Amino acid sequence: MKNIIFIAPHGTGKGTQCDLITKEFGFKHLSTGDLIRKAIKKQDAFAKELEETINSGKLVSDDIVLKMIKDYLEENKNAQGIIFDGYPRTLNQAYALDELMANIKETINVVFYLDITKEEALKRTLGRLICANCQKSYNKFYEGLKPKQEGICDVCGGALTARGDDTEEAFNNLFDVFMEQTLPILDYYQNKNILEKIDASKTQEEMFQKINEKIKEA
Ligand SMILES: [Zn+2]
Repeated sequence: MKNIIFIAPHGTGKGTQCDLITKEFGFKHLSTGDLIRKAIKKQDAFAKELEETINSGKLVSDDIVLKMIKDYLEENKNAQGIIFDGYPRTLNQAYALDELMANIKETINVVFYLDITKEEALKRTLGRLICANCQKSYNKFYEGLKPKQEGICDVCGGALTARGDDTEEAFNNLFDVFMEQTLPILDYYQNKNILEKIDASKTQEEMFQKINEKIKEA
């Protein structure tokens, strides 16, 4: 089994890359956000506990997230590979993940960091427009991604809207916090010689070509 980690700031197209890898290699996509959302849907005692934590504005504890990951790996032990998306976010989580993997005789093969400047990430995030009707996405700052007619979906003629939470201030905060938390993790994996930096100013196709090669080598 090949185990890969994706680390990327907002606006790098991480979701697209995860989808492409899933299609190409048949890997399972482990997003801790999705795991939490699925657990809440079960409406059992644990779901209630999770919901209360989140509603009170707290983060789900490391121990609980790790337990969910452990269960997920157990359920998917015959998978070709696992993509860890959005985890680990802190050094402590990286240590815990290593320990968990060692216990099940697995290892992290490669860590992809989608490298982007703050300016570029800002443009991608703030330029994003979504069709309210068919959900197709556009970006008003990029030639190939602009709608043909301003504010109108090429496909269905629906109205295009910006996401309400994509403000410059919110973006700057998110990006700074992300970098502060992430740099130590990047160093950690760099020292283990498994970090691959991918230039996220390239197109999705170019990025995937590089990622594809690295996964085959891993
Ligand atoms: Zn549309």
